[in-house]
Amino acid sequence: MPEGADMTDTGSRSRVETVDVAPVNKKENRSLYKKREKIYPKRAQGGFRKFKWFVMAVTLTIYYVTPWLRWDRGPNAPDQAVLIDLPGRRFYFFFIEIWPQEVFFIAGLLILAAMVLFLTAATVGRAWCGYSCPQTVWTDLFIAVERFWEGDRNARMRLDRAPASVGKFGKKLGKHISWLLIAVATGGAWVFYFADAPTLASELFALDAQFAAYVWIGILTAFTYVFGGFMREQVCTYMCPWPRIQAALADEDTLIVNYNVERGEPRGSHKAGESWEGRGDCVDCNQCVAVCPMGIDIRDGQQIECISCALCIDACNGVMEKVGRPPNLIGYSTLNMADQDARGETPRFRMFRGRTVLYAGMIALVGAIMLYALLTRSVMDIGVQHQRNPLFTTLSDGSIRNAYTVRITNKLHEDRTFRLRVEGLAGADVRRIGGDAGLPVFRVGPDTIESYRVFVTSPGPDVPASRDLEFVIEDLANGNTAITDSSFKGPQR
Ligand code: SF4
Ligand code: SF4
Repeated sequence: MPEGADMTDTGSRSRVETVDVAPVNKKENRSLYKKREKIYPKRAQGGFRKFKWFVMAVTLTIYYVTPWLRWDRGPNAPDQAVLIDLPGRRFYFFFIEIWPQEVFFIAGLLILAAMVLFLTAATVGRAWCGYSCPQTVWTDLFIAVERFWEGDRNARMRLDRAPASVGKFGKKLGKHISWLLIAVATGGAWVFYFADAPTLASELFALDAQFAAYVWIGILTAFTYVFGGFMREQVCTYMCPWPRIQAALADEDTLIVNYNVERGEPRGSHKAGESWEGRGDCVDCNQCVAVCPMGIDIRDGQQIECISCALCIDACNGVMEKVGRPPNLIGYSTLNMADQDARGETPRFRMFRGRTVLYAGMIALVGAIMLYALLTRSVMDIGVQHQRNPLFTTLSDGSIRNAYTVRITNKLHEDRTFRLRVEGLAGADVRRIGGDAGLPVFRVGPDTIESYRVFVTSPGPDVPASRDLEFVIEDLANGNTAITDSSFKGPQR
């Protein structure tokens, strides 16, 4: 039998392992500084654990594989599906291409992500923390690796207490090398989002990549190794602001992982053949504490450390099955459901409340605005800057001339030809500085912004001090236009 555990004969179908634990949040500790007690999470088995393996596989696959996905955008564009092109000042996401002036798409995405997180927090509590937060996912992966090299909870505790030996050194070395490989792969995957992944990979291996790439890989490797291997639950408890924010988003109808006190207490070990009358269903085996990656005892009530990973539900359900009692002594419920249960009423989950409807409404609104903006996104643009010094020039024939810098944006990956005209100024002559008479025509390269200097001349001299006008570019291939406002300055006061 492993150290720190004994087998309690429950008199039921199977015997239950009882674990000695020292939860990190013992209430009697009132010191302002709490020395960290190392946590040795035991392997849990059950539906929630399987779901966590599934989420881990999906999220890690997305993270590591995405930079290697290709997306054909034509001959003059990168073919990486997801690319943050900092030198080119573009963000590519499959068929979407975001230019710097379209940064509102990123802002919209962040707002959308925040609203989804708020709705999740109000509905199912810290589901994000328990299943898909990177800190949770990588810590879970690092614990799995640790378990592979050093064994489950009790074996790891024994190994840490054991004197130095070749065997112990070998296990620790294997674990740390594995952790470092994962950490390097994690940092490496991150830089691939910022450059063509196959090219950067060959440059990295040939030690020919930019110095910044090695620096970022080093930084992210260090963070992954330290956060996943050593700091683990400390990051969630002390560094992450989300538990505090999340507490403000939840209410009495938010699903949380809850110990059913009415049913579980009074707790105590259970002997073979003993009656369950006059006692609770909790056999005080501490399995729920042993599997907890945060090292807490859910029976002490709601705690800020709890990430709602539900592993204690799996552990306790396994125990309940062995002792022949109904499952979900620990389960997902709301505070209101717990009260209803205590009053003998049928617990009822209230999904639709003011805050959930508000968050869902905002998600729908922001999503619709973004979709509309995406579908009506212009692939050409014009910007005009009026020359300030001088504001206007009076020519020898009395006409008035203004100078402008016109900036034309071609967002397509092909050459395009645009004709420029102005509207709102009768009889105006527009021409490129140094160009021929007649409306100027500009050829703009693929995925490019070009600037041109132009003169606009109005027959004078009766030109007001300021007059609104519009600059219009027309794509000669299809007649599409883009318009921007400006003004024409004259001498009249
Ligand atoms: S709540 Fe369940 S797992 Fe936890 S000590 Fe009681 S019986 Fe064991
Ligand atoms: S108490 Fe349960 S749900 Fe909360 S962190 Fe521990 S194992 Fe996960």
